[in-house]
Amino acid sequence: MAPVLIDGKKISAQIKEEVKEEVLLLQQRGVAPCLAVIQVGDDPASSIYVRNKRKACEYTGIRFVDYLLPEDTDQRTLLARIQSLNEDASVHGILVQLPLPEGIDEKTVARAILPSKDVDGFHPANAGALFLGEKGFISCTPAGILQLLNRSGIEIEGKECVVLGRSNNVGKPMAALLLQENGTVTITHSRTRNLREVTRRADILVVAVGKPRLVDDTYMKEGAVVIDVGIHRNEDNKLCGDVDFEKVAPKCSAITPVPGGVGPMTVAMLMKNCVKAAEEAAGCR
Ligand code: NAP
Repeated sequence: MAPVLIDGKKISAQIKEEVKEEVLLLQQRGVAPCLAVIQVGDDPASSIYVRNKRKACEYTGIRFVDYLLPEDTDQRTLLARIQSLNEDASVHGILVQLPLPEGIDEKTVARAILPSKDVDGFHPANAGALFLGEKGFISCTPAGILQLLNRSGIEIEGKECVVLGRSNNVGKPMAALLLQENGTVTITHSRTRNLREVTRRADILVVAVGKPRLVDDTYMKEGAVVIDVGIHRNEDNKLCGDVDFEKVAPKCSAITPVPGGVGPMTVAMLMKNCVKAAEEAAGCR
């Protein structure tokens, strides 16, 4: 039987419609949700990501302000910019586009953003809250994956969930979310022994390794749900994921394509987090 294609484009569009309505409600209460994005340097990939965020803000009605700082900006200047946005009550969400130039420490930058404006969910207070099951902002990509599973009717409770990759922004928060949803969760990484034996146990396999088409059908059991977080350009300059779609799709029950799977969800969840930040600042939550 052909696998179900989990349609991230459609689900992200639904979420953006919901955000649009929430923004209207906030505006009726005199609150104009606002996202501030800081980009340091003009890395072309970063510029595309920032443009996509601007477009999503324009679509949903969230005010978007961006700061393009020169490549040679030092850490102190960047931290001062963050501080002034922390103090600006008209700004609800702050995001610093990664990667940052050499000499700027991403962890220091993440800690500088007020947790209540940290719509990326990278501040240790928010990352920690997720692991403790407390309120906070959740990293947008794993939060988006959870929405994909929930809105596709894929049950997590009691399932064997294997996360391939343990990055702070994707793998670890993904595992915490699946655990919160009562999955039985295993995290794997580059030092995992007998990796395929572990991934073949998965009912739900989330792949975030950052290696183009690493995961083929030998990594999965028949009928698994496979979520592909990776984004790469192949030899023909076409987008591909961490999963070898041609080999895996015929054997799984559901799969996210690349493009059109996890990718569009990240920006949609960023919009959701911005509205949440504005609602909390206005005392609506
Ligand atoms: P990352 O920080 O590079 O982490 C990769 C993880 O995979 C690490 O934990 C690493 O293990 C593990 N790994 C690498 N090679 C492996 C191998 N051969 N076998 C087993 N484990 C291996 O990557 P990331 O930030 O999590 O991103 C992963 C992918 O998702 C990238 O392609 C990225 O572009 C994409 N991404 C997409 C979105 C989106 O919106 N769709 C958002 C974020 C990221 P160690 O820890 O042991 O080194």
